[in-house]
Amino acid sequence: MAFFYSTYRTILFVMNTSIKKLAVYTSGGDAPGMNAAIRSVVRSSIEQNIEVIGIFRGYLGMVDGDMTSLQTSSVANILQRGGTILKSGRSKEFLRPEVRKIAFEHLQKAAIDALVCIGGDGSLRGAIAMHREFGIPVVGVPGTIDNDIAGTDFTVGFDTAVNTALEAIDRIRDTAASHNRLFIVEVMGRDSGFIATWVGLAGGAEEVFIPENPTSVDQAIQRIQRGMARGKTSSILIAAEGQKPGRAYDLAENIRKKAGFEAKVCILGHIQRGGHPTAADRVLASQLGSAAIRVLLQGQKDVMVGVQNQKVVYEPLENCLNQKKLVHQNLLSLIDTLSK
Ligand code: ADP
Repeated sequence: MAFFYSTYRTILFVMNTSIKKLAVYTSGGDAPGMNAAIRSVVRSSIEQNIEVIGIFRGYLGMVDGDMTSLQTSSVANILQRGGTILKSGRSKEFLRPEVRKIAFEHLQKAAIDALVCIGGDGSLRGAIAMHREFGIPVVGVPGTIDNDIAGTDFTVGFDTAVNTALEAIDRIRDTAASHNRLFIVEVMGRDSGFIATWVGLAGGAEEVFIPENPTSVDQAIQRIQRGMARGKTSSILIAAEGQKPGRAYDLAENIRKKAGFEAKVCILGHIQRGGHPTAADRVLASQLGSAAIRVLLQGQKDVMVGVQNQKVVYEPLENCLNQKKLVHQNLLSLIDTLSK
């Protein structure tokens, strides 16, 4: 019986593009601007007479049926707040198809016609699985500080994380300059060097170490020496954490052994995740939240909304997740040119 009902619902989703009730959730690593995206999804839906359900703790809440009805007033006064009012979560269990089926049964029970997933690439893969297995239309809103999702120039949270890291680096530079010091600042980015590159360029670093582009310690030493030769008394290197958070200490030790320079290390860590979203992130989140509803009403079923060349666009989720978004090489060259 459950099988027939599930099949019946699937056929309905395929045939019927009119959406009466949708659910929104935030999942994976939280990012500043997620609240702005929730607010935009809720208010854009209500404007179209679509009911909105908020699912708590991402896929954890979807599996537990932990959800609530959201009204215009539920999202008042959250635009400027970091984190996510819906909470976020990670669920290993959700990787199992039988657990996703339990999640879908909760969606069916609540008569939810579509999903808006705000999160990083893992969360968006979860949304694809829900669409593929149960036919439910899904739209992804890319929300991660890492900016590592193809199909959009920027993800919600990236701009805030860069500005937070930059503020810290500007302070560190004051100390570096006062004491003639070399600093290595470690920023977030397990597989991706977007934060490191942007912070490196905006903060006047000598060198950035990013996961995509192995940089030799010798090259960094050469750049430090180049600066010293023209009378520079302080230098800053930026390292993305990569697969080993704390790698800045290894780099410092390597530089000490090879060149005899003593480097101070500063690991910025989770402060990069929190805080009030910048104006750029609030605008992006507002645009993408609203676009998510628009594309659902157009009948799209498995797409991600994003911005490309300042235009709001959408692309099949699968395309976005199957490509690796690379840091622009010209930004890396510019860091070299401008630190000479
Ligand atoms: P992010 O969305 O920030 O990249 P994760 O990679 O931790 O964060 O993913 C968040 C959650 O999405 C995971 O805990 C898991 O529940 C779900 N998820 C990730 N990958 C998949 C997948 N391939 N299939 C189904 N669900 C997935």
